[in-house]
Amino acid sequence: MKELLSKAYAKTGESFISTILTAAADPNVISFAGGLPNPASFPMEALKESCNNIIDKYGSAVFQYAKTEGLQAFRQYLAEDYNKTYGVNLDADNIVVTTGSQQALDCFGKVFINEGDGILVEKPSYLGAFQAFDQYCPEYYPVTLNDDGLDIEELEETLEKYGDKIKLAYLIPEFQNPTGLTYTEENRAKVTEILKKYNVVLIEDDPYGQLRFEGTKPPYIGLGKLPQAALLGTFSKVATPGMRVGYVVTENKELAKYIAMALEATSLHTNIFSQYLLLDYLQNNDQPAHVKDIQDLYRQQCHCMLDAMDKYFPENVTYTRPEGGMFIWATLPEGVSAIKLFPKAAEKGVVYVPGDPFYVGVHDANTLRLNFTNASPEAIDKGIHLLGDMLKEECAG
Ligand code: PMP
Repeated sequence: MKELLSKAYAKTGESFISTILTAAADPNVISFAGGLPNPASFPMEALKESCNNIIDKYGSAVFQYAKTEGLQAFRQYLAEDYNKTYGVNLDADNIVVTTGSQQALDCFGKVFINEGDGILVEKPSYLGAFQAFDQYCPEYYPVTLNDDGLDIEELEETLEKYGDKIKLAYLIPEFQNPTGLTYTEENRAKVTEILKKYNVVLIEDDPYGQLRFEGTKPPYIGLGKLPQAALLGTFSKVATPGMRVGYVVTENKELAKYIAMALEATSLHTNIFSQYLLLDYLQNNDQPAHVKDIQDLYRQQCHCMLDAMDKYFPENVTYTRPEGGMFIWATLPEGVSAIKLFPKAAEKGVVYVPGDPFYVGVHDANTLRLNFTNASPEAIDKGIHLLGDMLKEECAG
């Protein structure tokens, strides 16, 4: 059957995400590989109550086909929340509800990318975005991600040289996946100014912004500033990922329409039961307090992992110190391949995600991603100890 596969699919190869999840599912292995939120972040009792409420309140509508853009009242609620928090002026038509932010990424590819069109991405970037965009056979233009944000010189050079080919800029400025890095306010302002000069659509992916457990939130790069920008939000990390509810926020209503049209072709509309459920949940519960509990939990887990890394990792391994989100990014000495070490680590009983799949065309990267949200303090200490011992052997000299 292989000869029947589409060109784009044939290039995709085996999904790295599923390989990781398979390794991570082994009960004998301590997994820092997945990107799973802690189940304690699922407000189960409140959702159970909302489940009954919405059936009583809305009847068959919660089970019926619905509007492609999403539930009007839910979109209005989200718009008002952004207005209150960020001083923008949105209404329901500025929001499209998607099946997680992952579907939004697919929609952007569908709407904008012909084979060979350019997408500017961070180096490294979210591997799930590559999977979504790859279906449309783009050309990627990676720009190095530094500790303070995008490399400004490289960004300018890339856009000067390839600005006419680049249609989308895909950025994750807050607690980035995979690095945990956050762009500073100064860096964001520069990125905004540079993007203003080009006919590029900015996708500002923000699944982790609410998971800030230290420091203060810098302003968005696109929202309120760029005419062709969209912000991707999601309930995956602050309520439940299994419900698959994300959303596109854009001040550009033409862009919102394009995304809705693309969404209609793939799924007709996003799960309407989940939208009613989340709306009822948000209206009847103290969500900011719930988010604060998640922040407190993740701060503790992150510190636990960093303390263990400080204790057990060799000195020639460096790592990020995130102020939020779910990931820490470690850099091994030059020439040490994290992907080659993966089977050894798994044999010792601990797994991570090697850096390779987060880059375009990089093999044997000396980087790896560690997730701290889904393991107990004991498991974090034990797993990092095992990993540290292995790294001391492998990174010596
Ligand atoms: N973008 C980024 C950067 C992510 O890390 C993830 C989830 N791992 C997603 C998008 C997709 O999230 P969801 O579809 O659950 O909203």
